[in-house]
Amino acid sequence: MSGEEDRVRLGRLSAPGVSILFVTFKAPEPLRARRNDDAARRFEASLSAMRRSALEAAKALLEVDRCGHFVYEGCASVGEFGERHGASAGEARRLVALAMAVEMCPPLEERVLTGRIPLESAARLYAALSRARPGDDWLGWAETESTRSLRRRVDKRVEETRLGEAPAVALTVFLSLAGRDGLVPAPAIAPRKADRTLPEGEPIAATVDHYLTSFDPMRAKAGSRRLPHTSIVVGRYVPAEVRRQLMARGDDRCAIPFCDHDIFLENAHVVAHARGGHRDADNLLRFCSKHHRMLDEGKLRQVGPAGDPKFADARGRGLSRRAPPSSTAEPPRAPTAGESAEPILLRPETRGAAPT
Ligand SMILES: [Zn+2]
Repeated sequence: MSGEEDRVRLGRLSAPGVSILFVTFKAPEPLRARRNDDAARRFEASLSAMRRSALEAAKALLEVDRCGHFVYEGCASVGEFGERHGASAGEARRLVALAMAVEMCPPLEERVLTGRIPLESAARLYAALSRARPGDDWLGWAETESTRSLRRRVDKRVEETRLGEAPAVALTVFLSLAGRDGLVPAPAIAPRKADRTLPEGEPIAATVDHYLTSFDPMRAKAGSRRLPHTSIVVGRYVPAEVRRQLMARGDDRCAIPFCDHDIFLENAHVVAHARGGHRDADNLLRFCSKHHRMLDEGKLRQVGPAGDPKFADARGRGLSRRAPPSSTAEPPRAPTAGESAEPILLRPETRGAAPT
């Protein structure tokens, strides 16, 4: 259970011979929500127009790139051409990648136009489609994963392809002075430990490797569990092997679809600890603190088992996929009976009854 928003104040009242310690807790503000169909509709309409324009701009820019027209405008690259016309070089390159992805995979265009695949994901697909392997489902992944997850998947594929050809990657890092000072001895120590001279960069890899071996649960060997099943062991300790299973199952990020939080995750019990829920993987899920709270407040609900979790909003609508195509999207509607148009405000005490 998150306690990070709780503000704890300690004070002391003193009188001759009397000392009273008092502690006050400020409960976190409940999350609030208010309907604004007009803003949602304007956003959807503008975004729909933006997707169409972006595709047109992408195709035009690809033509500019291919015929080399940009040199006629005194530019050295399509990126510079973009900058000259009010798009950043990065944006221009993404547009070209988008056009090439659509060219390689025509069904992608319809999915972009209907909002099933975001523009940025579609542009990333170019790098993946040109490195496709049998069994890949890039369109399906782009539809169901957040853009960040997809980017990681694409980067991994690009890296794998590269490593087959050249076993080195460039790395640029910005460190604090203290961080740099910590790294300086590594090139001297690592070769001694390895008992051979190491090429430049290897000491950093060796240092990171040592750290991960010490602290990354994903490196623990599967099955090397010493603690018996937590249903028969009293306490709140979650065995390392269970933590490893949880990280592997959830791609080491918040379990809510399209949430990319992957630091400071909280373990949540499906059956609450207070009601005898154990601490094994089939009773645990990992959430960011915001989604943990939304579940506790009833704004989100878990449906299905922890091993294959699905989530729904308070009205029971599944969260597992992107919005349906615009043409079939549910039109904005007035609230029905039993559903208030008033701000949703859930009482903090609902937290106690929810999974912890
Ligand atoms: Zn989350």
